[in-house]
Amino acid sequence: MSAAPDPASVYPVGLRLAGRRVVVVGGGTVAHRRVAGLLEARAQVTVVSPVLTPALEALATPGSVAWHPRRYVDGDLAGAWYAVAATDDPEVNAAVATEAERNRVFCARADDRAASTVWTPAVGRQGDLVVGVHGGGDPQRAVGVRDAVLAGLTDGSIADRASRPSSVAAGSVVLVGGGPGDPGLVTVRGRHAVAGADVVIADHLAPQGLLATLPPEVEVIDASKLPRGRSMAQEQINALLVDRARQGKRVVRLKGGDSFVFGRGYEELEACVAAGVPVEVVPGITSAIAVPELAGIPVTHRGLTHEFVVVSGHVPPGHPASLVDWAALGRLRGTIVVLMGVDTAPAIAAALVEHGRDPQTPVAVVSDGASPTQRTVRTTLAGLGRAITDEAVRPPAVWVVGDVVALGG
Ligand code: SAH
Repeated sequence: MSAAPDPASVYPVGLRLAGRRVVVVGGGTVAHRRVAGLLEARAQVTVVSPVLTPALEALATPGSVAWHPRRYVDGDLAGAWYAVAATDDPEVNAAVATEAERNRVFCARADDRAASTVWTPAVGRQGDLVVGVHGGGDPQRAVGVRDAVLAGLTDGSIADRASRPSSVAAGSVVLVGGGPGDPGLVTVRGRHAVAGADVVIADHLAPQGLLATLPPEVEVIDASKLPRGRSMAQEQINALLVDRARQGKRVVRLKGGDSFVFGRGYEELEACVAAGVPVEVVPGITSAIAVPELAGIPVTHRGLTHEFVVVSGHVPPGHPASLVDWAALGRLRGTIVVLMGVDTAPAIAAALVEHGRDPQTPVAVVSDGASPTQRTVRTTLAGLGRAITDEAVRPPAVWVVGDVVALGG
């Protein structure tokens, strides 16, 4: 160990390593983490190590990383701009550091902070904003502060209004898929967009908890399209999106699940495009997969089902507006996930049985997914209508048909 390092003497910079040779000596988990970060910086990475962890090998295989499968030898750093010594052998790390020093290459030594010419900060990225934190020698402290800053940027408690060109531009619309309802199940990009909005037009299945975090100056419009209640016509929503964007506002359309899964998101996108309003889509976690999953039911399982189909049950079989081939679905062996199908469940179950599905196929009805009132009712295709009545199941609910349902019991 060299003399005790003085944390205050560090000089933070951002290395621009794109296309530049960087040599990483070592093939374990520390090396893997460093290589992943270097690849984000688009460095030209060479790894020297007799063996690699599977994760590191997976990076090396597609050719983005050059791998020399042998021990380090003096001279390996030739031509390098930067080096990382991350083996579990202090002597090897010391030899790498010595060569680096001789060549005037900065070298991060994972095992000896005092002997390292580089201290690597805990790094976080939010769009084009990069946060790097040095923890005064305590990596956990650095990670904690980094996470707190990222969380603050994500939920808006740390304002970054001036420099968010990649989030919501003034005069544009972002369609955000809000996931099944829990604010923890919105993507980072989605949360970021909401945090930067001037106007949020939200559905009732969108994560309401997210709206509570918005400052009072943000206009929140409730576009609830309750299944049977009063509704704001789709044209009105489209007109609002265009109108607010034309006022120069940053507009977020916050929907439940994913905007393009029975969400009319594409209609809204078309309305914006037709009006010449820039529009972006942030994918969301669809309730079709997440709600069964939260109830412990996988939509696929190896050896059990190789397919799942997501169906809208908003009109029953035989209805003139139905676009679903119920006979084909009746013949299916795999998983069927039905959305918007509480009232139509008896008619749909009957159609599936009529076309060949075993009436004893297990069914789970999951209502209020991702909320404290989430509930699962288990039954069979034959018993579905009865179970919904007896258990007084109310929308929103997703129901799942198939052998996978028995797994989550
Ligand atoms: N775009 C949404 C689906 C909109 S259709 C998505 O990708 O999830 C609305 C239907 O989604 C509801 O009728 C219900 O079937 C389902 N749904 C959405 N959120 C739900 C939740 N939290 N719990 C149960 N079902 C939900």
